[in-house]
Amino acid sequence: MTIHILPPELANQIAAGEVVERPASIIKELVENCIDAGATQIDIDIEQGGCKLIRIRDNGCGISKSELALALARHATSKITNLDDLEAIVSLGFRGEALASISSVSRLTLTSRPQSQTDAWQVYAEGREMTPIIKPASHPVGTTVEVLDIFYNTPARRRFLKTEKTEFSHIDEVIRRIALAYPNIAFNFQHNGKLVKQYRVSQSSDPIDKRIVTVCGTTFMQKAIKLSWQHDNLSINGWIVAKTTQEPMQYFYVNGRIVKDRLLNHALKQAFQERNKSSIHSTDQTLSYIIYLEVDPHQVDVNVHPAKHEVRFHESRLVHDFVHQAVVMALQQIEQQTEQLKE
Ligand code: ADP
Ligand code: MG
Repeated sequence: MTIHILPPELANQIAAGEVVERPASIIKELVENCIDAGATQIDIDIEQGGCKLIRIRDNGCGISKSELALALARHATSKITNLDDLEAIVSLGFRGEALASISSVSRLTLTSRPQSQTDAWQVYAEGREMTPIIKPASHPVGTTVEVLDIFYNTPARRRFLKTEKTEFSHIDEVIRRIALAYPNIAFNFQHNGKLVKQYRVSQSSDPIDKRIVTVCGTTFMQKAIKLSWQHDNLSINGWIVAKTTQEPMQYFYVNGRIVKDRLLNHALKQAFQERNKSSIHSTDQTLSYIIYLEVDPHQVDVNVHPAKHEVRFHESRLVHDFVHQAVVMALQQIEQQTEQLKE
């Protein structure tokens, strides 16, 4: 065997292995792009659990005709330019991989119109023949990405797709998670031509409360302990339910990005265990929470995992203790209120 550089389409398909696990991962990447584009309305249409079709339309900034083909190229992004930017990420995307990866394992069409253009244009790329074709189209300001036949050219991956119902529920969960973090964006979700979920923007002073009620139900909100604290560059907001009869809902966001983080889970769990004697003791299995942590982007590294599920804090101990303290304080407050009620 000789050493040789892989052809770009194969390199893209290998990269797709990291971010495109199933239809839900495509939806996550595409919706994150809409959010980065400043959209306030995002429509998600899928067919057959996303395996047949995924169509995502937004009213964001759009992509100019001259950049359409580039958007599909690997390592092409408008979100960072240098190392300094990488060290303080403020957008959800930055790797310039998603569209290239998705288009290498599906039939992808990108249609877009920025405010500055009177007409829309469309670019199409299919699997191995990666030469993009550009043609005129009709579209309001914003972007639509259509993804057909996922893994049509990678049979080994296609075999891992589950039933329509399973893929649908993964997608539903991805949309719930995103909707919880962006109460100022409206989402419409259609499956096989039927509107299945609609997350509207509430005009009230607390749109997040309304969004949580829509996503997690009124019981969650009624039982929830409110968390809110700020210190130096850190701020935390959220809701915790100590004991739920429902399936626990656990959502932790760092700068608008959902993360799975052991450090943060540990901080939460520890705070609850310490207050164990209180009337609202709980084990982590029955703990439900929605927590939003805001950190100076210089203090957190999001470039840890291709799918960006993980983050690393520069001062992890400090963040841990901050979260821990915020939860302890919220629990103490609740205990005091319960005591007062008894008196
Ligand atoms: P990344 O999000 O990491 O930059 P992507 O492959 O997801 O990489 O997208 C490549 C580029 O295409 C983005 O940087 C952005 O400029 C453009 N783009 C993708 N989707 C949209 C969209 N919905 N609206 C506007 N621009 C988009
Ligand atoms: Mg992206």
